[in-house]
Amino acid sequence: ITFESFKLNKQLLTAVAEAGYETPTEIQQKAIPVVQGGHDVLGIAQTGTGKTAAYLLPILMKVKYAQGVAPRALILAPTRELVMQIDKAITELGKYTDIRHLGIYGGIGPKTQIETIQKGLDIIVATPGRFMDIYLKGELITKDIRTLVLDEADRMMDMGFMPQIRRILEIIPVKRQNLLFSATFLPRVETLSEEFLEHPVRIEV
Ligand code: AMP
Repeated sequence: ITFESFKLNKQLLTAVAEAGYETPTEIQQKAIPVVQGGHDVLGIAQTGTGKTAAYLLPILMKVKYAQGVAPRALILAPTRELVMQIDKAITELGKYTDIRHLGIYGGIGPKTQIETIQKGLDIIVATPGRFMDIYLKGELITKDIRTLVLDEADRMMDMGFMPQIRRILEIIPVKRQNLLFSATFLPRVETLSEEFLEHPVRIEV
């Protein structure tokens, strides 16, 4: 299997090649077609497997280009470091698109983040706490979110983010695609997936 065999455009394939990715990893081979088919996904994969590109490439393909002001995809991750890492991967893989994206996290004042949001965004990567803070300030339009990713969902549960994640699910559109990634598949991850995912395709590597 090659990246060319997926339904990805030239802009993404060029960026993938320049990132040095020669062949898709196992999680990418299994997940990319399923995500592109519009299904909810429960992905069990550790860091280092290439899970980030496995969901980012289909999202970049779906979002396609800059449009409007309201974000269309939301990626939630447990820590500032992971948010920054995911945002950097979007910069790399989306370098030949005009897709606007931002990583938002705590530890710094929200002013610059809010200013960037106001200019319009297509993809937001966020820690749950900071996402809710900015939403409660009235600075986030959530009505166009069609794709939700919960990355390192098991760690988000360990860190006590469940109440915030539940609140976020209440303020984004019901009709959306959900992608949940976790390094482990413990009973609590199963409970979470039953609560959040609709007929998910389970992919394990
Ligand atoms: P991740 O598991 O998403 O944190 O990715 C781990 C590392 O693998 C990152 O540095 C990626 O840039 C890299 N990577 C992802 N997909 C591929 C691929 N198909 N070929 C080579 N490296 C990759």
